[in-house]
Amino acid sequence: MGFRYKKVVKILVTTVPFAENNSKLLKLISSSKLEIDLNPFGRKMSYQELGKILPKYDGVIAGTDRFDKVLLQKCSNLLFISRVGVGTDNIDHEYAKKEDIKIFSTPDEPSNAVAELTIGLSISLLRGIAFNNDDMKQGIWKKKMGKSICEVNFGIFGFGRIGKKVFDHLNNLGCKNIFICDPYIRDKKASINFMEKDELLKSSDIVSLHLPLSDETQNFIGKKEIKLLQNGSYIINTSRGGLIDHKSLVYFLKNKKLGGAAIDVYDEEPYSGELTTLNNTITTSHIGPMTEETRKNMESKAVQNIINFYN
Ligand code: NAD
Repeated sequence: MGFRYKKVVKILVTTVPFAENNSKLLKLISSSKLEIDLNPFGRKMSYQELGKILPKYDGVIAGTDRFDKVLLQKCSNLLFISRVGVGTDNIDHEYAKKEDIKIFSTPDEPSNAVAELTIGLSISLLRGIAFNNDDMKQGIWKKKMGKSICEVNFGIFGFGRIGKKVFDHLNNLGCKNIFICDPYIRDKKASINFMEKDELLKSSDIVSLHLPLSDETQNFIGKKEIKLLQNGSYIINTSRGGLIDHKSLVYFLKNKKLGGAAIDVYDEEPYSGELTTLNNTITTSHIGPMTEETRKNMESKAVQNIINFYN
């Protein structure tokens, strides 16, 4: 039975927070046939918790929770998964398609916030801002030489919505050289420095990942790739944890082959692993899209996507 024949559609929201100070969204929900239950735990649900609770619902407004075949098989009522966000690598697409479970996402809304975070992390790594802050909090007054954006070669993997915005910001900041690797861009402007993966790694002082996670890009950066980087280079990942081989990253941060890394996303979230203990990492808790307006726009779009599709 489809949505349009049901009086009320029961939806579980897994993502936290949701609809906080978002009056536009609350109005949208109250004028619809959607009955929305917020995540009862107030934190990311475990896979097991989600498996127990989701079968009661017709739809889910989701974060990065795992919706694999085993979980989806338990949810015979499920009509849709509406992501508050862009990546849908957490969903078994093949099974969803087979069962006609619709998948929606909000691809445009987070781009500005993630691109800005990337620039913030870049400057923090290059100038040692976060590391200096750690020292100061321990009573250590130490001046360490850094580099400005104007002094570095910056490599961007993935030239989509976010990669392009990072490129524009870097250009505006006067970045020395910006190198791009994206094999799927057909119309390559001559004014932009496109490179193959290995060449970009060898040429960059700092690299940032802005590509989707897929079978092709799992462990996109591993031992071989980090070895190609110059000593003291930096890595930023605001895309997906699975793009980097975690073990290799930790190994090369510990032996200082890498100057540092700024990581916002992890294989398993919440993350509390070794990266949080090293003195050359900046670790953030998947805050890429967490600005007030971005979040509101993503939430509203996730609900609007459901309404648009079925009305
Ligand atoms: P997009 O689809 O607009 O762009 C991705 C680009 O990556 C495309 O141009 C594609 O051609 C390119 N690409 C694919 N495979 C590649 C490869 N092997 N090598 C190089 N480039 C490749 O996506 P977007 O909106 O820019 O998002 C980029 C990433 O950011 C995604 O992984 C997304 O999940 C992530 N993201 C994270 C957050 C967060 O909360 N931290 C928020 C939004 C998006």
